[in-house]
Amino acid sequence: AQIREAREKRGPAVTTDGQQMRISANVELPEDLPLIRENGADGVGLYRTEFLFLRSESGPSEDEQLAVYREAAEWAKPHRLVIRTLDVGGDKLLPWLSMRPAEKNPFLGFRGIRLSLEREGIFRTQLRAIVRASDQGNVAVMFPMVTDVSEFRRARELLGRVRAELEAEGHRLEEVPCGVMIETPAAALMADLLAREADFFSIGTNDLVQYTLAIDRLDDRVSSLYPAPHTAVLRLIQGVVRDAKKQGRSVSVCGEMASNLALLPFFVALGVEELSMGSILIPRVKTAIRRICASEARERVEAALSRKEVPEVLEALNRLAERFY
Ligand code: PEP
Ligand code: MG
Repeated sequence: AQIREAREKRGPAVTTDGQQMRISANVELPEDLPLIRENGADGVGLYRTEFLFLRSESGPSEDEQLAVYREAAEWAKPHRLVIRTLDVGGDKLLPWLSMRPAEKNPFLGFRGIRLSLEREGIFRTQLRAIVRASDQGNVAVMFPMVTDVSEFRRARELLGRVRAELEAEGHRLEEVPCGVMIETPAAALMADLLAREADFFSIGTNDLVQYTLAIDRLDDRVSSLYPAPHTAVLRLIQGVVRDAKKQGRSVSVCGEMASNLALLPFFVALGVEELSMGSILIPRVKTAIRRICASEARERVEAALSRKEVPEVLEALNRLAERFY
């Protein structure tokens, strides 16, 4: 029984009619890495790098970062490690990178890719470490909080320059696919254009929900107004996946919605390729996916989404999920 359980955990998540989905892990600290193997993750879909910068007094060196990224790539094998570049700001502030004047609305402030593009020295060091870690063969990178194609292009250009520099220094490098997080309504609405530029999308629903619904993700009083997903967010996600597919790009979902059992038939129906979540949630989600019939999910999701009020949509999605598990 133990052997069967282990095989089930490691095995792929495939629907009853053969549609496969990668179920990967979100990693916040190096201590999380052993858990990805234990829980049968199909790689790391979101590797948050903030811890490196929060721990350090002045920012981690290239070599310090390189060692940490290589170790993570090793754990993710034979699957992919998707490293997200620094996403401080908002609720994650660095003592050594002061915001002056202090921000009144840090979540609407100088964060994510905005900060990286302005502090190019810090960004360049991180990109060098990520590109060097590609010698492990399975490393991808993505940028947080993008709101416009120009930001993505600037970041990608810097990635290209860093790569050329490293090649000139004689490093042996592998391809590093370069993706964009879709976590602002602006990015979701520009997904058709971003899909022409980026190698893949990763939908960050925590921020996408916060910015779409004007709900502070850290404030229980408002976040409990919508304990479950809102139709507006589901519609944005539908559009993003449609735009990605038109350009042949793959889509992952890496916010908390990815592990919501009531939404799995929705993600299956859309043809999302990957869901990324805290490792301990993975076995449960894999078991649920294996019970879903994708063609039935596709037939029924539209009707659920067409209900007028959010609670009605949620009830319809719950009923759909109950057909399967
Ligand atoms: C998100 O916004 O959904 C996300 C995955 O990133 P974070 O939670 O780190 O902001
Ligand atoms: Mg986010």
